[in-house]
Amino acid sequence: MAVKENLIHLKNSLSSDITLVAVSKTKPNSMIMEAYDAGQRDFGENYVQELVDKQEQLPKDIHWHFIGHLQSNKVKYIVPFVYLIHGVDSVKLLLEINKQALKNNRIVNCLLQIYIAQEETKFGFSFEECEDFLNSEAFSQLKNIKILGFMGMASNTENEEQIRKEFRLLKDFAARSLIFNPSSLILSFGMSSDHKIAIEEGSTMIRIGSSIFGSRNYNT
Ligand SMILES: *Cc1c(COP(=O)(O)O)cnc(C)c1O
Repeated sequence: MAVKENLIHLKNSLSSDITLVAVSKTKPNSMIMEAYDAGQRDFGENYVQELVDKQEQLPKDIHWHFIGHLQSNKVKYIVPFVYLIHGVDSVKLLLEINKQALKNNRIVNCLLQIYIAQEETKFGFSFEECEDFLNSEAFSQLKNIKILGFMGMASNTENEEQIRKEFRLLKDFAARSLIFNPSSLILSFGMSSDHKIAIEEGSTMIRIGSSIFGSRNYNT
């Protein structure tokens, strides 16, 4: 797989205000370094142990994004270095991130994951839960986390209108959330198959794996 060519081709198609997170889960360090040498610095992983190993072995100026489902008991392993946690899907998890961030004397950047897909299995807050939480006293007391925006995953479907509708709901919700400055709000949605629709619907950060590194051996 021509990682460098794939990356440059993709980069050239994006406007400069879109952040590209190269999703390197299951891929070897050698492939990450190909992308790194082509200028890529934002990488996404979704397994804690794999992320910790790669962070130890690879250049220290990489911005590591955790994009998977994070279990509370694993938070402590990534908090010392993680750049942005995308999939924060419960208050319990956020409390743990805040606690570990305090221990590490860090402010940890997070995105709240919102459930927008039709599938039953997806993690995330509903719009209503999220709104209640952002307005809560508990939220205002978390001093060692910074919520920079939202993350979502559309339904796994060929129906582009459905995908578009789901992204649009998330974008509209974010626009109504008063705690964010529109110019710094991060909206993380769009993957290899749907990033064009995502950008049309207001994504500011896309998470792309297979279009850069090739398909994975198993589905995650
Ligand atoms: C694997 C993964 C991606 C990238 O998926 P591709 O289809 O390979 O681009 C994006 N986001 C999350 C949360 C993922 O787990």
